[in-house]
Amino acid sequence: MSDLATRLAQLDTHLARFRDGGIVNLINGQDVPGSGGAFETRSPVDDSLICSVSRSTAEDVDAAAKAAKAAFPAWAAMDGKERKKILHRVADAIVDRAEEIALCECWDTGQAWRFMSKAALRAAENFRFFADQAPTARDGQTLFAPGQMNVTARHPIGPVGVITPWNTPFMLSTWKIAPALAAGCTVVHKPAEFSPLTARLLSEICREAGLPDGVLNLVNGFGEDAGRALTEHPDIKAIAFVGESKTGSMIMKQGADTLKRVHFELGGKNPVIVFEDADLERALDAVIFMIYSLNGERCTSSSRLLVQESIAAEFHDKLEARVRNIRVGHPLDPATEVGPLIHKVHYDKVMSYVEIGKSEGATCRAGGARAGEEGWFVKPTLFTDATRNMRIAQEEVCPFLTSITFKDEAEALDIANDVAYGLSGYLWTNDLTRALNFSDKLEAGMIWVNSENVRHLPTPFGGVKASGVGRDGGDWSFDFYMETKNTSFALGSHKIQRLGA
Ligand code: NAD
Repeated sequence: MSDLATRLAQLDTHLARFRDGGIVNLINGQDVPGSGGAFETRSPVDDSLICSVSRSTAEDVDAAAKAAKAAFPAWAAMDGKERKKILHRVADAIVDRAEEIALCECWDTGQAWRFMSKAALRAAENFRFFADQAPTARDGQTLFAPGQMNVTARHPIGPVGVITPWNTPFMLSTWKIAPALAAGCTVVHKPAEFSPLTARLLSEICREAGLPDGVLNLVNGFGEDAGRALTEHPDIKAIAFVGESKTGSMIMKQGADTLKRVHFELGGKNPVIVFEDADLERALDAVIFMIYSLNGERCTSSSRLLVQESIAAEFHDKLEARVRNIRVGHPLDPATEVGPLIHKVHYDKVMSYVEIGKSEGATCRAGGARAGEEGWFVKPTLFTDATRNMRIAQEEVCPFLTSITFKDEAEALDIANDVAYGLSGYLWTNDLTRALNFSDKLEAGMIWVNSENVRHLPTPFGGVKASGVGRDGGDWSFDFYMETKNTSFALGSHKIQRLGA
């Protein structure tokens, strides 16, 4: 059997249980169907039905929030070393089931096997990293003043809501859920309606690894009912959200009455700036990797290429040749580099931007067309001769690379910052002073110099402008999931004003 046939056979055994029982919620350790009926999840590979999924209402969200509230005191009070052990068991179980997770993710989202097999292991690393921090998560500072000693301590904020999108959903969910659990919070997770499979696997893995009932609850459903109810629920103290900027704005409004703390990771239109003095072969590899890997469906994808005029023609020729050569195919084929887009809605969006790009006067050098006869495959798309104000240079579309040329450093910076977003930026130059100056002025939460996105877990992750609110990663995650309390001790008998004496 070919590798693809073997993987399809393995996938079939994993999908059988979903086909039979569908995906139901997991609330307080119990499998419960949603009270709003069910919806279908389909594979983007051939639009075939995978299974039915519980459609949750405010009633289900209320049950999940109450379970999270009831489980909170014991989980928060548990010795951090105990939480550490449980979270490491979760990581072990993710590693044991990495193949199943990757197969399901590929089929559910269209992501290529070559990336998903690693993403599942990366998810286990997220759990291990935060598990190791659990014993010290509550630590604070001692701050002295004359006659006074202040002691700070962190306390988990309470039950939190985690709302995730469809891009690399398993890895991304662990990135939010692992620190919340390590901090001592309990969680209600609402995964994206387009990609529910692996969120269900994660909740089962946590249950089997010994996470107490109610500590992680799963509610499936749509944003406008289940998602909304979660953001409005009075028992939910904070919302960690990853998704589109306009959804973030809605969540902020929805959470206003209950004064939700929010952490938002939103969209991006991230620039990769290539100067003439860069190592052009490495820059080319990174430009291609950062827009077409993971089907371009990553928030940090470098979707705007800014290339210096003096090298633009040569760079574009090489780029076009490579982009045309990218292997689009079945996500479970190990040779595949790009799989289908998540859903018809997303496919239609990408195709509409192809027309927008052409009508705006940019040149479509590669892709911009359907690949294959079925499913939501699009050939990797490259537009050149774009200008900064075009919609294809301003709005988030993935996978879709828009190239703009610039004369000098000042113009590059001006174009780079001339968007609503500010998540990440990539800079290719061998001029150290330029790299320092440019990265200082670039409006982005994360910048890589002479590198693609290589994530180091202790570093802060997040965006500025329309790309996000707040940071996570490392200790920044604990700052979000915990409250800092200050207790002030008088060190002697200082004078107290005697009113009314
Ligand atoms: P989306 O905003 O449509 O949906 C994300 C989640 O929010 C889903 O679970 C959805 O059901 C829920 N939701 C929708 N409306 C809601 C509402 N009113 N109240 C509460 N929840 C609601 O985003 P998407 O299309 O699923 O994901 C793609 C987007 O995510 C892209 O913009 C991408 O750049 C972004 N993203 C950002 C990062 C980052 O770190 N900045 C990472 C991954 C993805």
